Amino acid sequence: MAPLYGRVALIGLGLIASSMAHAMRRGGLAGEITGYARSAETRAVAREIGLCDRVCESAAEAAAGADLVVLCVPVGAMGEVAAEIAPVLKPGATVSDVGSVKRAVIEAVAPHIPPGRHFVPAHPLAGTEYSGPRSGFATLFDNRWCIIVPEGAERAAVDRLCALWQGMGANLDEMDADHHDLVLAVVSHTPHLIAYTMVGVADHLRRVSNSEVIKYSASGFRDFTRIAASDPTMWRDVFLTNKDATLDILGRFTEELFMLQRAIRMGDGDTLFDYFSRTRAIRRSIIEAGQDTAAPDFGRVPAKG
Ligand code: NAP
Repeated sequence: MAPLYGRVALIGLGLIASSMAHAMRRGGLAGEITGYARSAETRAVAREIGLCDRVCESAAEAAAGADLVVLCVPVGAMGEVAAEIAPVLKPGATVSDVGSVKRAVIEAVAPHIPPGRHFVPAHPLAGTEYSGPRSGFATLFDNRWCIIVPEGAERAAVDRLCALWQGMGANLDEMDADHHDLVLAVVSHTPHLIAYTMVGVADHLRRVSNSEVIKYSASGFRDFTRIAASDPTMWRDVFLTNKDATLDILGRFTEELFMLQRAIRMGDGDTLFDYFSRTRAIRRSIIEAGQDTAAPDFGRVPAKG
């Protein structure tokens, strides 16, 4: 089968871009892949591991002549990168992104897209707590969801980008940017904030030593630490740009936390039991939907010692 795009440019060469490079190669989806990252160090690693066919010295050099340019930088850097590549975009080219927030990215990028080029925002709901060009792998998007936010883009350009994400293993949904940002505030952004907070609380608590926290972490804390190890730049930008939806969900979270706090104080076991039964059912649905393993403790091998 002929590649979907003759040349794809990846701007930013971290976890998502490197996984895209591997997944596009696996599926033969791009004729050529060019790439650019801000630091010389990342570009050197990308060259060393052969991540792209060509690693360029500027975003504009990577984007020139590309049929698809995917912005894979932190959300706060999208606008500046779009401004840099705009003058070299070839007629008919598509610009997309993988940012975790959509309304702010659209506001930052869309004004730079010249007439005759398409802008089709996207967000793959797949990731790990690792970053950088070595962290990517070809199966990252397999059976994960990718949300496309067409925002009035030409249907043919949207369909071609959808075919690319399907070729990389993803399932597709389309929604508008505001709804995307609210859904993500529930399933990703607020949970990350809570994990960061829980790990921070343990760190600040003087009556329990850090060595005890680490030693007994398998009791639940460990699962928070995985999320709280996520890239600080990326997550700073997510909270700065998805402010309203995150604050909305955080407000609801705080109300429910107070309700549970009261149930504990009043010895109201029925409220606690009913609440935990409902949350357990949600976990079951996630497993049934193939979005996680049913193996106990996520299939972890018990640690030695
Ligand atoms: P990452 O591994 O930290 O990589 C970010 C890349 O962007 C690095 O190559 C970095 O270059 C480059 N970069 C940063 N600022 C730049 C700039 N101003 N100009 C050019 N390059 C720049 O990040 P990631 O996890 O792949 O995330 C990339 C995007 O995907 C973010 O918008 C994020 O919201 C989104 N996303 C992430 C996940 C996830 O779980 N990680 C999931 C879905 C979507 P240097 O290495 O040289 O600093």
